[in-house]
This record gives sequence, C-alpha cells and structure tokens, in this order.
Amino acid sequence: MSKINRVPGYMQSKGNRNRGPIGDREIRYKCSMQNTILDVLRARPGWQEVSGPNTAGNQQQQGQKGTTGASSSGGTTSAKTSTQNSTPSNQATGSATTSSKSSDGDWDFYWCDREWLHANYDTMFLQEHQKILHFRNHYELTRKNLMVKNLKRLRKQTEREMGKKEAESFDFFPTTYELPSEYHIFVEEFKKNPGIIWIMKPAAKSQGRGIFLFRKLKDITDWKKGEYQPLTDPNREVPETYVVQRYIEDPYLIGGRKFDIRVYVLVVSYNPLKVWLYRSGFARFSNSRFSLDSIEDAYVHLTNVAVQKTAPDYDPDKGCKWATQQLRQYLTAKHSADAARKVFQGIDNIIIKSLQSVQKIIINDKHCFEMYGYDVLLDANLKPWLIEINASPSLTASGKDDYDLKYGVLNDVLNVLDLENRLTGKEKRVGGFDLIWDDGPVLADDGSMECSVNGTSTTANSFLGCHCERKKQLREIYTAAQALKKTAVS
Ligand code: ADP
Repeated sequence: MSKINRVPGYMQSKGNRNRGPIGDREIRYKCSMQNTILDVLRARPGWQEVSGPNTAGNQQQQGQKGTTGASSSGGTTSAKTSTQNSTPSNQATGSATTSSKSSDGDWDFYWCDREWLHANYDTMFLQEHQKILHFRNHYELTRKNLMVKNLKRLRKQTEREMGKKEAESFDFFPTTYELPSEYHIFVEEFKKNPGIIWIMKPAAKSQGRGIFLFRKLKDITDWKKGEYQPLTDPNREVPETYVVQRYIEDPYLIGGRKFDIRVYVLVVSYNPLKVWLYRSGFARFSNSRFSLDSIEDAYVHLTNVAVQKTAPDYDPDKGCKWATQQLRQYLTAKHSADAARKVFQGIDNIIIKSLQSVQKIIINDKHCFEMYGYDVLLDANLKPWLIEINASPSLTASGKDDYDLKYGVLNDVLNVLDLENRLTGKEKRVGGFDLIWDDGPVLADDGSMECSVNGTSTTANSFLGCHCERKKQLREIYTAAQALKKTAVS
C-alpha cells in the first residue's frame, strides 16, 4: 500500500486528484536537478514527484537508478534520504522510492533549469496554482554586462531625480565596461589610471571560467587579436561578450587570504517587489595567501570553489568556507559590532538597489520565483562590493555543513512559497528567511533583538549572519498560524 507523508491538516481528497488547483491532495513536483534540491523535494511530506522530459526522475529511470538506495515505502517518496543518513549528497537520492507519474504539464511546482524555461516559457500556459523557478528574463540581473548596465541606468536616474548624494548609495560595483562594445571608453579610462589592475570576465560564464587579470593594455590587445579577429574563420560566431572591471586590489583578508561572501536571496514577486534574505550563507576563501605579485595565479585571486578545489594543496577536509555567522562574529570581535552591522547593512543596500534596477524590466509573473546567490567582496575598509548575482547558485554540497546549509535554505524556499497553505501570509520571518522588502522596507518588530549588541537592535528586518534556529522558528509560526486559522473558522 502506498503511504504518503502529509503535512498537518493536509488531507487527500477522494475526488479527482490530478486536476484543478491544489486542494486537499499531494503536491506534484518536477525537478531537473540532481542535487540537494531533489533530496529536499523527495523528503518533503505530502509532495510527490512526477517525471517527464528534463526531470531528474526521468534521467534516473533511464539508467541511473537507485543512487543511494534509500528505503522504499511502497512506491512513494521516502523522507529517509541522505539527511537522515547524515551523508552529504551530490547526487539524487532515494530514486527507487519515487512513484514517478509521467507528466508534461501536470505539476504544481517545477524546479527547472534556465534552458528549459527559455525553450518553453513563451509557449506554455501556467495554471493558477503552478509555481516555477526563474523569471523569464532573469539574465537582466545575472549576466555580468546587463547587471552593470541596469545598475548604471538606475544610478543615473537617481542622480537626476534625487541628487548626487543619493546616487552615491550605488557606488558598490567596481567600474565596469562591456567588451567589445565599450572598448574605446575603456581604453580612455585605462589611460587615466596607469598601473592599476583590471579583471576580464566572459559575461555569461561562471565558476571562474575564462577570467584573467592584467595590468598592461598590451595583454588585452593580444587577447583581442585572438578573440576578436575571426577573419580567418568565416564560420566563427560573433565574438563573446566580456566585461572588463576594475580589480579590487585591497580585499579584506583573514589569515592572509581573500574571500567572498555568498548570500541567498529569494524574490517571490517583482511587482510589487517582495524580497526575503536568508540568515546563513558562507564566506569562500582562496587557498593561497593574497599577493599582487602573481596576478596570473587563479588560486590567489579567484575565490570560486570550482577553482579552489583544483589547487594541488587543496584539503577537502579543511575546505575553504566559513559560515556567515562565523564571519559576523569575527568582524564584531576584531572591529566592533557597529562596524560589522555596517558591513551587513551595506549588503542589504546592494540587494535592494540591484533588484530595483531591474524591477521594471523583469517580466513579472505570479507563477515565478527566483532564488539568487549574491557574491559580495569586502575591501580592506570593510566596504562591500557586488561581484555578481547568480540565478542558479550551486546546490551541490562540498561537505556535511554545506549540505545542511543548502538543505535548510531550499526547504525554507518551499516554506516561504507555502504551497501547502500553512501560513497566514503576514509572516515576516519563515525559518531562516526574513522579509526585508515588501513594496518598501520592512522593519523589525519591536523588541527584536536577535542580532543586538549592547542592547541596540537593527531596525530593518534583516539578520544576515545572525543566529538562525530555523526549525524552532518554523514550529512556532506553524503553531501560531494553525491557532489563528482555527479561531477564524470557529
Ligand atoms: P564567475 O561567474 O565566473 O564566478 P565572478 O565575477 O564571480 O565570475 O568572479 C570570480 C571570482 O573572481 C570572484 O569570486 C572573486 O573572487 C574574483 N573577482 C571577480 N571580480 C573581481 C573584482 N572586480 N575584484 C576582485 N576580485 C574579483
């Protein structure tokens, strides 16, 4: 007999379970990733996997069965996945336990990849209850050149309408030009600042691929010849777009090493803008001590895990990550609570301004949501700089702690989206997520001293790097919401 775990108060109706809005029936999901998100979905009570083209379940059925051999309970999703076994998993787990219904449009929730969305969004009709990862033109924020273009535009508009001082709040992204289109403006700027270091990055690549640093224009003219003079090959595609960016030469160092900070942000609507910020994240350290003597050494200058883990002396046990909580504590102890608070307020500003810069451009759709991974770098003056924004941040875990963090974030994404309809909709905090923007800044409740030092709390409802205790908080809000709903009914 099939036994499906259900969320409390979430009964299965005997009627037609496969049609209509989600009522009292299981939630059907599709997922095209084979990593932590699949574990989360498969362990979620009351959720059931449906397969189809471009789903992990389908890929497994086609030859990757039973990756970890999680226990089966009669053809249903088993909650007993790698979390319970405490085994970080980079692969899908529990595949044998899923009763995969084959379905193309018969789903409530789809964690799809960007390629699938691009190929299908314009021709698909989403039903009232369906939720899907990614907004149609997410690349406006996640392509390096477009992100900067949108930020420059809003900065200009702010300066025009509100003055220079207000526009200074946009000074969080390094001077950047798009190549080849802005090559000549870049050369002018280059000549004005002799001797400084620039970083060259392909606009649409990730994981440090294709990046290099340079000091001399000659380095780039050589590169330009190779990249942009495709005359010998008439079939060669148009040259790839790059950004050239001022390199932050004085990063804040801990133990002599450079790091950047990964921050998770969930946007559930662009109009009105509604933004949730996750309390935890991590700092990713480079493996080698920082120095400007060897600008060609990626292990020194690029903090991507994908780069660092290929270093010959990389130690997977030691890893190269700190939890954001650890970083906040370190900055508080080393400098002051106020200094640490300013760092994190600066990150809040980056998040909101960057989202506002595309608010009118992103095609808003109530069916869509986005979970962004922001990359932020601190300089020696503790000023945060926006490096880039990812719409598909890595969900593959590099170790047990990393797995637990990602498992928690993803579960809380589902908790905020609340397909189970367990919340009141008025919550300002759900698990590790705090609502920081709801068509305007969200203020913390009075007496919210969760990240207070010397009795002063933040006034914004933002707690990046503060303690998380998500499970306890979830228990509390679900109990409160249930009680409220009961009172409303009686
Ligand atoms: P990718 O998408 O390939 O990861 P990023 O823009 O995130 O490209 O850059 C990769 C890494 O390079 C960053 O994590 C950071 O360590 C370093 N980096 C990128 N831009 C700068 C910059 N302007 N100044 C200093 N370091 C940078």
